[in-house]
Amino acid sequence: MQVISTVNEMQTCANDLRNAGRKIAFVPTMGYLHEGHLSLVRKARESGDVVVVSIFVNPTQFGPSEDLDKYPRNLDKDLEACESEGVDYVFAPPTSEMYPSGYSTFVNEESLSGPMCGKSRPAFFRGVCTVLTKLFNIVKPHVAVFGQKDAQQAAVVKHMVKDLNLELEIVVAPTVREADGLAMSSRNSYLKPFQRQDAVQIHKALQKGAAIYESGIDNIDRILAEIIHHLSTVRRLRVIYAEAVDLETMKPLRTRVEKGHTLIATAVWCDEIRLIDNIIL
Ligand code: AMP
Repeated sequence: MQVISTVNEMQTCANDLRNAGRKIAFVPTMGYLHEGHLSLVRKARESGDVVVVSIFVNPTQFGPSEDLDKYPRNLDKDLEACESEGVDYVFAPPTSEMYPSGYSTFVNEESLSGPMCGKSRPAFFRGVCTVLTKLFNIVKPHVAVFGQKDAQQAAVVKHMVKDLNLELEIVVAPTVREADGLAMSSRNSYLKPFQRQDAVQIHKALQKGAAIYESGIDNIDRILAEIIHHLSTVRRLRVIYAEAVDLETMKPLRTRVEKGHTLIATAVWCDEIRLIDNIIL
C-alpha cells in the first residue's frame, strides 16, 4: 500500500493507472475509520481493480461553531485498517495541500442541498461538493463509493456529478450498524456510555416508523409523528429534523409513502453530539 500526501503525486499516479488501463475505485473519507468505511472499501474492491481511500478532515464543510478541531483523528490506525483491507493507495493530504493560501473557488449544489442537513448546517454541502470535486480531479476515479448513512450527501453528489458532466459512477452502499442498531459513525467516539444508551433510540425510532408502515399505514404525517414522539421521550435527545423526502430528489413528501423511494431521515442532538440516521421505506 502506498501513502500519498501531495496532489501532484496522486495525480501522476492516477494518470499512470489510467494509462495502464486500470479501473480506479475511490472511497473518500474523513478518517477515524470504522466498519462502515471498510464496507465501502470492500464495495470499491468489487467495483474496480485499484482501490484508493482518501483521508482528509475537510475544514470547508464545518461551520464556525462545529467540531472541526476536536473531530477524531488517528492516521496510524487508519493506515493499518486500510492495509489489512488490501487498499492500494491512501491519499492523506495536509490542509495546505488542498486549500493553499489564496484558495477561493467553491462548488454549490442549489436544490437537493436545501432541506434537512442543508438547513441546519448551511456551510456543509458547499464544503462537501467543493472537496469532492477536487478529490475527483486528483484521484481521477472511474467509480466512487458512498454510504447510505449520509443519504442526502449521496444524493447531492450523484446530482453534482450529473450536472457537471463528471465522468465517474457513484455507488451507494448500505449503512453498517452496531449490534444494537446504532449507525456506525466516527462521531460515536464522542458518546459516553450513558449517551450511547440514548443514541441507540434513534434507530429504534426509525424502526418504529418502518413498523407502522409495514402494518399498512402509509400516511407520512402519521409515521413522522410516531418517530418524533419516540425521539422526544428519550432524555438526552433533541430533534433537529425528522423528514420524509424523495430518495433521489430530496424533495419533501407530504402525503403518502412512495414505496422504495421514500427516505425518512433524522438528525438529533444527543446532548452536544450531532447524530444522523435514516431508513428507506
Ligand atoms: P465520513 O468519514 O464520515 O465523511 O464518511 C465517509 C464515507 O463513509 C461516507 O460516504 C459515509 O456515508 C460513509 N459512512 C459513514 N458511516 C457509515 C456507515 N455506518 N455505514 C456505511 N457507510 C458509512
